[in-house]
Amino acid sequence: MQVYFIGAGPGDPELITVKGQKLLQQADVIIYAGSLVNPALLGYAKQGAAIYNSAGMTLDEVIAVMKEAVANQKKVARVHTGDPSIYGAIQEQMDELDKLDIRYEVVPGVSSFLATAAALKCEYTLPDVSQTVIITRQEGRTPVPEKEKLASLASHNATMCIFLSVHMLDSVTAELIRGGYPADTPIAVVQKASWPEQKIIRGTLSTIGETIKNQGIDRTAMIVVGKCLDTDYSLSRLYAPEFGHMYRDAK
Ligand code: SAH
Repeated sequence: MQVYFIGAGPGDPELITVKGQKLLQQADVIIYAGSLVNPALLGYAKQGAAIYNSAGMTLDEVIAVMKEAVANQKKVARVHTGDPSIYGAIQEQMDELDKLDIRYEVVPGVSSFLATAAALKCEYTLPDVSQTVIITRQEGRTPVPEKEKLASLASHNATMCIFLSVHMLDSVTAELIRGGYPADTPIAVVQKASWPEQKIIRGTLSTIGETIKNQGIDRTAMIVVGKCLDTDYSLSRLYAPEFGHMYRDAK
């Protein structure tokens, strides 16, 4: 294999997978998404590795670097933040490599919505509260399909992890309330989950806009909404004595 797409994890350099780290250490050429990937991860690069920051590059430029490296028998690590399958623009790169007959593999990573749950010490899928997690974003310069507008997703009252939208928080909360979440639904904003400067701000859909003002929240933040953040719930069936399953008989 010549090109490896690697999920770098949410920020903490120890949250890359063992596999991802090994490949990063072996790579001759590293192309990383500089806007979000923690530069500390480049500390894993071997001496002499060529390092490119894709933040200032076009798709064609990224592919050209890969093509040349592969032609010279070099190993390429294409490093994405979190997991590359979530807002990673990985598909268009894979499609170009297919056209060029360049083989690649994808190594998953810890997405920021999971590091956010860890920071909040919460379970997104609480029994009787929500068994569904919706990963989405507010429409901005990149449009969202009509059937996936925040208000219609909100009608489910599921747990929602909203990426790429914290700079539009007021319209996010307005849409969520319009779509059917009660105004007192808990919400949290987690900035830079897993980084040393991680910051957590909690509130309800009606209070968070005020609370977050002057907190210096930039774009590297996740919005989580749902009753799972603060509620009574049923104990899980998985560990209930009367609930037998494949690994344990009912008592
Ligand atoms: N592929 C990435 C997401 C890239 S889109 C992943 O799986 O996490 C960029 C968005 O991800 C940001 O706008 C923000 O909403 C979120 N994000 C990325 N890193 C984050 C972090 N450490 N803490 C909170 N949100 C983060």
